[in-house]
Amino acid sequence: MSVRVRLAPSPTGNLHIGTARTGVFNWLFARHHGGQFILRIEDTDEERSRPEFTQNILDGLTWLGLSWDEGPVFQSQRIDLYKKFTQQLLDQGLAYRCYCTAAELEEMRDIQKAQGKAPRYDNRHRHLTPEQQAAFEAEGRHPVIRFQIEDDREISWHDLVRDRVTWRGADLGGDMVIARAAIGGTIGQPLYNFAVVVDDIDMQITHIIRGEDHIGNTPKQILLYEALQATIPTFAHTPLILNEEGKKLSKRDGVTSLSEFQQMGYTPEALANYMTLLGWSPPDSTHERFTLTEAAQEFSFDRVNKAGAKFDWDKLNWLNSQYLHEMPIPHLTDLLIPYWQAAGYEFDPIASRPWLEQLATLFGPSLVRLPDAVEMGQLFFRDIEIDGEAKAQLQQSGSAIALQKILEILSQPGDFTEATAQTAVQDVTKLGVKKGLVMRSLRAALTGSLQGPDLMQSWVLLHQRGLAQPRLEEALLLAQ
Ligand code: GLU
Repeated sequence: MSVRVRLAPSPTGNLHIGTARTGVFNWLFARHHGGQFILRIEDTDEERSRPEFTQNILDGLTWLGLSWDEGPVFQSQRIDLYKKFTQQLLDQGLAYRCYCTAAELEEMRDIQKAQGKAPRYDNRHRHLTPEQQAAFEAEGRHPVIRFQIEDDREISWHDLVRDRVTWRGADLGGDMVIARAAIGGTIGQPLYNFAVVVDDIDMQITHIIRGEDHIGNTPKQILLYEALQATIPTFAHTPLILNEEGKKLSKRDGVTSLSEFQQMGYTPEALANYMTLLGWSPPDSTHERFTLTEAAQEFSFDRVNKAGAKFDWDKLNWLNSQYLHEMPIPHLTDLLIPYWQAAGYEFDPIASRPWLEQLATLFGPSLVRLPDAVEMGQLFFRDIEIDGEAKAQLQQSGSAIALQKILEILSQPGDFTEATAQTAVQDVTKLGVKKGLVMRSLRAALTGSLQGPDLMQSWVLLHQRGLAQPRLEEALLLAQ
């Protein structure tokens, strides 16, 4: 039987990093086994589901490189299927109509609480007579459909991550609602646990790989598989992603959606690589950089941890910098241009392309995240201010002679390259000015600071943009 797995996000928010990581594990498992990875959008919650979130999920998965083989399948288009299966359970006597009102359920829970018991539905409408039902209908009550859960059942499965997991029926909260309230005789919208099972049966899903937060749903779903006489798939509950304090990563931690990571300037390759390491380790643990396709060759649940995976920004930053440092320059330039444009830097992306590529070449080795290039770009796109240290440098004796000579050399015709720049510096040292002083004064004049990227390359780039000469002239006015 070929492996069929699915990712089943609810479009009630942007693609969450946890869901994306679940997507990564599903994808790796499917690709490892030459199986199918299916995308299902769980949009039965009409109030909270939105098309823009669906779009964000599809875009995020595509950006990461998690190609799906089937779907997206939308649960909202399959309501009839869920109703058919609900009817089947009603016909089998395994499900029934419950007419309890919200107030009655609340009262039930209050009493349980007062008695120190865990809140649960007490199955009070499990055996209503047709007359009792008719009376409730006459009162205008709309019933939900509940599926019977026997307290004395023990439900157990072999989880690919957590080994044997066992639950008692008594701990599942009583008979569970599988369909929302609807006018008597009809069946309302399905609830999560039921729709998932119907879909997973219908789509012939063989392995359910999802976050550990769903573990409490699994025993209920297993009972539904049994009731619907379907083969129970294999489950793998993956560890949660934790924040630095060891708590589940949540909105309070700031960045949680994939699009936020994207905006922060992480590359999809680095993020996918990092997410793979969130809970899984490759057989050769010294080899931490890989593509999804490489990881898929080695992926198995034997190497997935049970313990939660702490989100490690340093590691993600390190990986991202590695990818950026090695990225082909045309691609890096494509990625940087929008950041420079968003910063308001003025340039013609087509006519200045060769210059922009040189800028990307200069910045590449220092980038951790893409927006770092905005700050680095400042001195190439905007006027500079000469800081205190740089001013002091310009006032060192010898500085003026150096800058003057440099300006003289620059006024001569010919191409200005890195080699020309080196020769110019040599020529100045021949006047008896120390090379270190020439370099520092040049840096102060050209960049307004004593720290920054490679001086010779920066100089050439500034020259090409017509900025070198005016800056040297201006600095000369301050120099001694
Ligand atoms: N729709 C569920 C969620 O977004 C996933 C359900 C599942 O994987 O079974 O968490």
